Amino acid sequence: MASVFVVEDDHQIRELAVRALADAGHVVRSEATAMAALQGIVDSAPDVVVLDLGLPDLDGGDLLRMIRAVSDVPVIVATARDDDSEIVRLLDAGADEYVVKPYSGAELEARVRALQRRVQMGGQARTLTVGGIVIDLRARTVEIDGAVATCNRKEFDLLAYLAANAGTVVTREELYAEVWRQPYGGADKTIDVHLSWLRRKLGETAAEPRYLHTVRGVGVKLIAPS
Ligand code: CA
Repeated sequence: MASVFVVEDDHQIRELAVRALADAGHVVRSEATAMAALQGIVDSAPDVVVLDLGLPDLDGGDLLRMIRAVSDVPVIVATARDDDSEIVRLLDAGADEYVVKPYSGAELEARVRALQRRVQMGGQARTLTVGGIVIDLRARTVEIDGAVATCNRKEFDLLAYLAANAGTVVTREELYAEVWRQPYGGADKTIDVHLSWLRRKLGETAAEPRYLHTVRGVGVKLIAPS
């Protein structure tokens, strides 16, 4: 079971979330404002944060960025805005998972469990090495040819996923599902943008790849340069 921090200003929704999570055996804390929540999250270091986006004192997306500046805690955002671009924006801003309002207590609890399972699985292997790339999954750091490379959250997740599947072609559908946690929508600029950022860090271009090889119409493959 997890320690869960619920940030929600709507009294009824907060009660529903807290009760559902506590009934399932989780240790739950909650706050109704962004500033109190930020302090509470820093103080209590929860396993999972459930974050409402419409808060009275600060936009939830801004709070998400503030949390990300100080913590790698998995965050589930609760949004009433069920559109793809909004969800992509939130996942890029550092959310790990989302629920669309109105959600049921059972649905929220299932998301918390799934996220926790994912985090625990990620903790099993410590490092992945592909050629000169060394990825520390726990510290979430990357070295390329012995030099530390700074990656944002999604770049790291993408590189780690490709490295875990090194030598095999990973499809865009799979990347959407496994890295972005959403169904493939066909408009795949997000993946292309992240791949080109990664290429820059790896010191290569799409025209002259070293590690990242695009298989046209299929996907992308990470392999050590020969
Ligand atoms: Ca709200």
